[in-house]
Amino acid sequence: MTPLDDARRLVLASCPAAGAVEVAHRDAIGLVLAQPVVSGEVVPPFDNTAVDGYAVRAADVATAHDDPVDLVVVDEVAAGATSSRTLGRGEAIRIMTGAPMPDGADAVVMVEDSERRGAGADGRELVRLSASVPRGAAIRRAGDDVEVGDVLFAAGTVVTPAVAGVLASVNARVVAVHPRARVAVLSTGDELVDDGSPLERGQIRESNRTMLLGLVAAAGCAAVDLGIVRDDEAELEAVLRHAALDCDAIVSSGGVSMGDYDVVKAVLGRIADMSWMQVAIKPAKPFAFGTLRRDDSTSVPVFGLPGNPVSSLVSFELLARPALRSMMGHRRGSRPRLVAVADEDLRRSTDGKTHFVRVNGSFGGDGRYHVTTVGAQGSHQLAATATADALAVVGDGDGVAAGSDVEVLLLHGDA
Ligand code: AMP
Ligand code: MG
Repeated sequence: MTPLDDARRLVLASCPAAGAVEVAHRDAIGLVLAQPVVSGEVVPPFDNTAVDGYAVRAADVATAHDDPVDLVVVDEVAAGATSSRTLGRGEAIRIMTGAPMPDGADAVVMVEDSERRGAGADGRELVRLSASVPRGAAIRRAGDDVEVGDVLFAAGTVVTPAVAGVLASVNARVVAVHPRARVAVLSTGDELVDDGSPLERGQIRESNRTMLLGLVAAAGCAAVDLGIVRDDEAELEAVLRHAALDCDAIVSSGGVSMGDYDVVKAVLGRIADMSWMQVAIKPAKPFAFGTLRRDDSTSVPVFGLPGNPVSSLVSFELLARPALRSMMGHRRGSRPRLVAVADEDLRRSTDGKTHFVRVNGSFGGDGRYHVTTVGAQGSHQLAATATADALAVVGDGDGVAAGSDVEVLLLHGDA
């Protein structure tokens, strides 16, 4: 049997990050920067007020906290506008959040500390201010977020929605990223039905493809559905060769078990450079990986996942997903891991394999993640596994006793 780490190393060695492409910042969300982003602009672009209130000269309100002061309101400025007035002694300008600071003003008093007094004896509008503020109060300075020349994001940064927001804020409208991988998904087997028709004896509903298309998309790839391929060598070869030209990777399920007579083995064995592995894990022991040459002497990775649905899921999580993420430039391909508390016995027997037990988990009052099994653990029992939160990693031996620590791999989120 091949240790899981060896299998993963072999796969990752054939799945380097693809070269950079330029995309619009909005299309970059979920992708990884291939080059650093250096700001060409200043954020904020000008000094502006952080609050609604009155722009003042701090000296005019120095004693306002103890003895409220009336100032003359000489202008009003909203966000997007500017005031042409230069503020003089004894004057205030009503100002809204985000509006540029008027010339002559050096602080802002919040509207909560003001009271409109209407027109004074000379007909000019007055405001009573009851707060003393230091110079600079409630002013957001030009460049206090970003300066020209700042390296905002290093190569390797994942473009989150917030990162895309920053790109927009500095007008970085096009960025260099590793492209989204196009990943072909197919399932193989004469027994599979997916058109809704009644099942004949020996047939089952196809489920892996629906799941794998979703997993591929959730990994950030573009999933391409190649349908069910019958156990027919010519048909399978045609589908695989077409996929190699059209896609960056191929994920198939079924036909990789030991002792199988299977067209998948026959065809991939002939047209691709494959390793057929028995990985030392349960479920998902059978696993095939290799590369399929295109006409132009480049090649695409091929992941041959086992057909049992739970095995397909676990194999995808442990071997295909990290590789697909690596092709898209992600530096941390694996799911978050943490040390949890087993709230029940996770018993097993010695068989030379690491067991990945499907568990539900939640954080307890002790701040620790507590897990219990989802129930049925058969590799065909996807219904029980479907709502699992994590895989508990139970090493070879007799298992983990209730109350003990156990390492888990969370099935949602990225490390
Ligand atoms: P195989 O790996 O092709 O030997 O298949 C192992 C088991 O998984 C068999 O019971 C298959 O019927 C089942 N199986 C294979 N492919 C699928 C699929 N796409 N959807 C659901 N079950 C499948
Ligand atoms: Mg099969």
